[in-house]
Amino acid sequence: MTTTLSVILRNAAQKYPHQNAIEDPDRGNAVSYAGLATRVLELSQVLGRHGAGPSDRIGICAPKSIAVVAAIFAILEVRAAYVPVDPTAPGARNAGIFADCSVTLVVLAADLLPQLRSAWDGASLEVLEDLGDQLLLVRGVVATNRDAREGGGQSPMDDIAYVLYTSGSTGKPKGVVHTHRSAMSFIDWCSLTFAPTSSDRFSSHAPFHFDLSIFDLYLPASHGATLVLIGDAAGKQPRLLGSVIAREKISIWYSTPSVLRLLSEYGRLDQADFSALRLVLFAGEVFPVKHFRALKQFWPHPEYFNLYGPTETNVCTFHRLPSHIPDGSENPFPIGLPCSGDRAIVVDEQGLEVQRGSEGELLISGGSVMREYWNLPEKTNDAFVADADATHWYKTGDFVTESAADGYIFCGRRDRMVKRRGYRVELGEIEAMLYRHPSVAEAAVIAQPDSDGGLIVTAFLSLATGSRPSLVAMKGFCATHLPSYMIPDRFMYPDALPRTSTDKVDYQRLREFPQ
Ligand code: AMP
Repeated sequence: MTTTLSVILRNAAQKYPHQNAIEDPDRGNAVSYAGLATRVLELSQVLGRHGAGPSDRIGICAPKSIAVVAAIFAILEVRAAYVPVDPTAPGARNAGIFADCSVTLVVLAADLLPQLRSAWDGASLEVLEDLGDQLLLVRGVVATNRDAREGGGQSPMDDIAYVLYTSGSTGKPKGVVHTHRSAMSFIDWCSLTFAPTSSDRFSSHAPFHFDLSIFDLYLPASHGATLVLIGDAAGKQPRLLGSVIAREKISIWYSTPSVLRLLSEYGRLDQADFSALRLVLFAGEVFPVKHFRALKQFWPHPEYFNLYGPTETNVCTFHRLPSHIPDGSENPFPIGLPCSGDRAIVVDEQGLEVQRGSEGELLISGGSVMREYWNLPEKTNDAFVADADATHWYKTGDFVTESAADGYIFCGRRDRMVKRRGYRVELGEIEAMLYRHPSVAEAAVIAQPDSDGGLIVTAFLSLATGSRPSLVAMKGFCATHLPSYMIPDRFMYPDALPRTSTDKVDYQRLREFPQ
């Protein structure tokens, strides 16, 4: 392992100055590696003028653009860490994340200022600079929560590079802390395995607050390849997305299986030339074999890889799909063998390693694993277990079996986390939000598969007072607190929630509730 994430860009600017680093087809602009490095240097000087430096966290709340990528690299350049949030999520959620992480500055889309300002706790949000490209630099909180380990002469590889907030079961998103070292463990493995070249054209489909973006942001730059930003409009319309992939001659695609499924169903993939595609990677959830087969009919030629890993580990196992999937085989694809310099074991409930072939929880140890949850020492402690050699293993919460031929096979999750449109959703977080509704006495949320391979999220609510809110009113309430992929599809109103003998909500009985 050689460099920090910021050195990647500096190297690319020297080696491939005239090569396009990023293209933004929506806005019709592009920047070379030399141009990007210059913008990053200028922006890092602006950040420095406002006191940014090692150990700071700096928020990012803006739609994807070349300017936002420049801001990310500028934050890394001053040895601070970036904290990207979903610009389409409610202001209160984003303000809560920024407060939790004590961001000292925020790079903010100008049109989101009123929303964030009204949700901001305490002193008013001070605009420090107009950064151009509809971006503002605003003052966050005063740096009280400095990280004692940072900046004290430690290797820059051990600086925090980014904090990604994921849905938290207690109702509060939690920040997954990655260092340059943990990110580079993954990126270095990608370089060896996928061998990109400067003529590759990568897609940037995932938003920057989603961990799939780590691949998009840092792998192309490591090889002087071009990153093509996929905007919101194409991201939501499979037909448009299909035509963008063909027109932009994307050679390396990375997304969740949900997106690939929408593409094969509605993307009119038979009507364009996808011969440039050489590699299709998917991660984040199971890709049902029938949907994969449908996709492969349109795209028979690329190599396909299934990548696995919670945000906490980056990608920690991988499986290369065979070129031919035998008819009748409907078993989910293996998640495969450890990668990114990680090791894996499978343990039973007592924490003892199971025999190969038995089901157990997957534990991961190694270079790409997160350092901690931000400011949550107890949760961090609970997330890891140390073995007799003092190796720290991250408990993924995922159940697997191991096969000699294919490595690990994913069997399901332990807790109440589900994937929706590829995003991680803790059903407990939706419940915690529903409890905030003045009429709600009790809330329980379940997710059930629909006939189409998707998930229906149903909220069961018993009311304390008043009449039943309309569907529109409840969805509207949820939309002020949650990102759209977390909003329940249905609301049911039993008089009281069913309980188990230990007085816990009886989720099993809720599943049997008449629809
Ligand atoms: P996230 O932190 O959003 O990446 O979500 C992590 C969880 O998504 C994992 O713990 C798994 O439950 C699930 N997941 C991630 N990748 C895969 C995959 N390739 N196949 C099946 N499930 C996956």
